[in-house]
Amino acid sequence: MDKSQNIFEKACRLMPGGVSSPVRAYRAVGMTPRFIERAKGSHIYDVDGHDYIDYIGSWGPMLLGHANPEVAEAVCQVVYRGTSYGAPTEGEVTLCEMLIDAMPSVEMVRLVNSGTEAVMSAIRAARGYTGRDYIVKFEGCYHGHSDGLLVKAGSGLMTQNVPDSAGVPEAYASKTLTAVYNDLDSVKALFEACGEQIAALIVEPVAANMGVVLPKPGFLEGLRKITEDYGSILIFDEVITGFRLGYSGAQGHYKVLPDMTAMGKIIGGGMPLAAYGGRKEIMEMVAPSGPVYQAGTLSGNPAAVAAGVKTLEILKAHPEIYTQAEMQAEKLEKAFLENIEKYHVDAVCNRAGSLMSIFFTKQPVTDYPSAASSDLERFKEYFAVMLAEDIYIAPSQFEALFVSGVHSDEDIRKTETAIGKALGQWQA
Ligand SMILES: *Cc1c(COP(=O)(O)O)cnc(C)c1O
Repeated sequence: MDKSQNIFEKACRLMPGGVSSPVRAYRAVGMTPRFIERAKGSHIYDVDGHDYIDYIGSWGPMLLGHANPEVAEAVCQVVYRGTSYGAPTEGEVTLCEMLIDAMPSVEMVRLVNSGTEAVMSAIRAARGYTGRDYIVKFEGCYHGHSDGLLVKAGSGLMTQNVPDSAGVPEAYASKTLTAVYNDLDSVKALFEACGEQIAALIVEPVAANMGVVLPKPGFLEGLRKITEDYGSILIFDEVITGFRLGYSGAQGHYKVLPDMTAMGKIIGGGMPLAAYGGRKEIMEMVAPSGPVYQAGTLSGNPAAVAAGVKTLEILKAHPEIYTQAEMQAEKLEKAFLENIEKYHVDAVCNRAGSLMSIFFTKQPVTDYPSAASSDLERFKEYFAVMLAEDIYIAPSQFEALFVSGVHSDEDIRKTETAIGKALGQWQA
């Protein structure tokens, strides 16, 4: 802990909160973040020499585990030929073809650098296409930090109890309407009130930024129907679910096709890369084909593209990676449920494939209010034991636990033991 502590103290003098992204700062758990030196497979190592089993996986991208040798090699090959040209490369075309091939609703794609940019740009395209201003989002869903989307936006914001962000003009936020996840009536009410002015509805098809919350049967289908009825664009934010719930994302899994899709995380294989895509007629609104401006100096960066292409190639050739990740996740879910029962802990576990969350609350978690009913003190105590047992999980109640395709049986056994200790700690 000494080195992490020292570096963090210096970092806090130089960087806001000592970090480059808020949830890394461990504020919700009242601890010092671990500074990371390296990672390999399912393990991550801090500067003090601790060896942790990693269930953050860079917050989603590392489905193949850290430092996959084929991905690393693909990146290195490119780097020696130059890291950025500001000109088109064949790799981008290959990656876009793979994304279109994988995602059932996507016909045309633009590459960007972050999920934030992907969503922000998808919304701009949807507004350009429909000529309307309003968007609808769900309370507790996170879609990156662009101005209009920092309204009731989950995880990082939930963790710090900042319902909205300072610095967002009222005029932007007022164009964002919020509905309740899994509650179609709340959506209908908004569309009945002003459906003709709604450009787009955006949703995480499996919510994973208020902890993992699954869509109820019929919810996504209902959103498809309502948006269609009003001529609004349905946007799936698949930045987490894309290539995670399966190679065809949540849209393939639930067989509901949005008009537009935002992608990120896994598609960059751990490099800064994201994308948005959708129906051709909407995507053709984007510059230089159409009047919706969107650009990027480093967009389609060749090193990031190489990591993305190799990652998707591996996932496509090895569908058993999904089976493996989900099987290991199922074991952890079972360990959670058994220990919840054994120790009479007020907690529930939600899981979608290799994504899951334990919530310290009695009620089923189906939306933001039920997620927010969690006992955060309990979470803190649970987190502290897990970390002491070398289990590296997100330092927040409102994040997912990410299982990779390379978590070994031994990793799982150790984690099961840690879960037993963490959930047993409140016994007299
Ligand atoms: C992570 C995330 C984003 C933002 O992506 P960044 O690359 O962090 O900007 C957007 N939407 C969802 C659903 C996410 O999980």
